[in-house]
Amino acid sequence: MNQGLQGWLSDSIQELHDASLYKTPRVLESPAGGRVTMDGKEVINFSSNNYLGLANHPKVKQAATEAIEKWGVGAGAVRWIGGTMAIHDELEERLASFKHVESVLVFTSGFTANSGCIPAVVTKKDVIISDELNHASIIDGVRLSAASYRKKEGWVYKHKDMGHLEEILKNAESFEKRMIITDGVFSMDGDIAPLPEIVELAEKYDAFVMVDDAHASGVLGKNGAGSTSHFDLYGRVDIQLGTLSKALGVVGGYIAGSARLKEWLINRGRPYLFSTAHPPAVAAALIAALDIMENDPEPMDRLWSNSRKWKKMLQDEGFDTMGSETPITPVYVGGEKEAQQMEQMLWDEGVYALAIVYPTVGLGKARIRTMPSAAHTDQDLDDALKAFKRVRDQLSK
Ligand SMILES: *Cc1c(COP(=O)(O)O)cnc(C)c1O
Repeated sequence: MNQGLQGWLSDSIQELHDASLYKTPRVLESPAGGRVTMDGKEVINFSSNNYLGLANHPKVKQAATEAIEKWGVGAGAVRWIGGTMAIHDELEERLASFKHVESVLVFTSGFTANSGCIPAVVTKKDVIISDELNHASIIDGVRLSAASYRKKEGWVYKHKDMGHLEEILKNAESFEKRMIITDGVFSMDGDIAPLPEIVELAEKYDAFVMVDDAHASGVLGKNGAGSTSHFDLYGRVDIQLGTLSKALGVVGGYIAGSARLKEWLINRGRPYLFSTAHPPAVAAALIAALDIMENDPEPMDRLWSNSRKWKKMLQDEGFDTMGSETPITPVYVGGEKEAQQMEQMLWDEGVYALAIVYPTVGLGKARIRTMPSAAHTDQDLDDALKAFKRVRDQLSK
């Protein structure tokens, strides 16, 4: 083994420890749900994106099992070299009608949908204008592009600051195309992008809009169709990204838009071209998950009633839930060390909720991020609140 590499790894890992940035995953020993067994301990899980409880739904599991019997376990190739099964096409058609768009193209994850789509729709004559709090997978997709995008060149706007976005658009007139890209729901704060204002500015300055609805899929809009549906902006958002890994409970990501956009990405979306298609069971499970979302309002109703209830419970006890407008509910702590200590104490009290600290969020803006879901019972929420109160009491001693 190369000593240079091994020494560098060891030093770099030590630096992560020193900066309190070192991560080790805890291990689930039960299906995803509101209450899970993790690292040998039963805990209330507040860190899952399984918003609607579909990850372990009997109908979804049954569809996946039947698909394995019918189609086998693997697609055997990338989509365009014989890896496209009829069930993959069926999923895309279902998603397109769910999203009220001409076409949908599925990628193996939301992450690869970003890194496939963003660099494919711009050239070096273009500029990408981003919200400063955009998700890491958007940032990576943007970095893969030939367009201008850098913050130091002035192409990143302050979080949700429409005055700043307009100023930047005025400076961007000389580019051939202008792309504005934003999260629909921001993953660390749970706030919603001002999409109507963004779309108006885009129309005024001849830009196009891409919205990453990973945390809006299954959460906002009609039956969970996302932020374009939530704000009734049908036909005015050029590119929508959705994830199939969070509320839909399985895995995958997709780009929704015009038929031409899909045609282009089939030819130029690199993860689509060079990475194997989903197992057929994934597509079948997702079609079953969509059936539930389109026909049964109960999971989404329960997600929102639990979210409202959980926020109110916290606020009534004096916890600061910051600017959250969605199920993503941060509990403000401030200090990084304190937030990490709180995460450990909550774990000891039977609650799994992660501390989110710098550099994921600003310095001194550490928080515990809680994610209530349809899978939580009233008892789960009551027990979790008691744990939060006990931890606060211990910390204030
Ligand atoms: C989770 C997330 C993704 C990635 O989606 P996966 O399907 O998990 O790869 C992309 N964008 C945002 C905003 C996300 O929160």
